[in-house]
Amino acid sequence: YSSKKRGKNTYHLFSKTESLNRQFEIGMEMSGALEREEFAVYYQPQINSLGGHVESLEALVRWAHPTKGLISPVDFIPVAEETGFIVDLGEWVLRRACQQAKLWQQEGKNVKVSVNLSSRQLQEANLVQRVKSVLEETELPPRLLKLEVTESVIINDLVASVQLLKGLSDMGVVIEIDDFGTGYSSLSYLTQLPVSAIKLDRTFTAEIVSDERQRKVVESVVKLAHALGMSVVAEGVDSVEKLKILEQKGCDSFQGYLFSKPLPANQLPEVMNQLQRK
Ligand code: C2E
Ligand code: CA
Ligand code: CA
Ligand code: CA
Repeated sequence: YSSKKRGKNTYHLFSKTESLNRQFEIGMEMSGALEREEFAVYYQPQINSLGGHVESLEALVRWAHPTKGLISPVDFIPVAEETGFIVDLGEWVLRRACQQAKLWQQEGKNVKVSVNLSSRQLQEANLVQRVKSVLEETELPPRLLKLEVTESVIINDLVASVQLLKGLSDMGVVIEIDDFGTGYSSLSYLTQLPVSAIKLDRTFTAEIVSDERQRKVVESVVKLAHALGMSVVAEGVDSVEKLKILEQKGCDSFQGYLFSKPLPANQLPEVMNQLQRK
């Protein structure tokens, strides 16, 4: 790093090193954080178009760092995937979410809980067994659990994914394709999979109000998904205008800041009551 005269390159090198250091730091701290109970699960409602009925809640992990405050999963999930820590963390989130969904069921709320699966978890040989154990342990009926898997993960190893997702689906667990539209945007391979729904990524619908072409693309994706027996969830619904168009284009459910940001479980009853009254 001797010379600043190297300008851009030097800076680039430095910032890369810095970011590696930061990743290393995060990675070191993370393993202890699970034992120190610094992780928390937040939930974001997914609304059915019919009168704002809350259909399910997506579990989204947060790290309440003792000095740095609440850390976003965007900053630590990639590191957790890199180090393999995501396998333990993911199972912890799954267990937490299933426990919570069981409580909701006991309170008479008929909502599903939705949990994100990372590629590393899918590569674990005993994933189906692990999910089964958690369901048994928490006594949550499998139909109340949804698992979200991204397209890229499936494309990477289609044969293995088919088997795995079939195993989960045969148990009664509901499978959804997350971040649809950021990868291959091809629905055809999904016909081989027991997929109940696709979640349209936020970027896929971001310009839907102003961009006619985006409206057309969404419309045709929705039609095809429906023809293949899948429902469509729109992510990142942050305005009434977007909601109206997405509803008109046939999307089946909606998630986004318009309804609620992700919240800790104890703050949900209030929001759910409000949504239900809308
Ligand atoms: P994701 O699965 O696509 O989750 C949706 C993300 O979009 C969440 O960010 C959510 O807070 C955010 N979001 C929801 N509605 C809106 C909106 O209207 N506008 C905008 N701008 N954003 C919205 P979050 O909670 O920061 O999570 C980021 C990503 O981290 C998730 O993306 C997921 O890929 C990953 N992640 C979070 N929790 C877990 C987990 O437990 N396991 C795994 N493997 N990944 C997780
Ligand atoms: Ca997700
Ligand atoms: Ca998503
Ligand atoms: Ca995402």
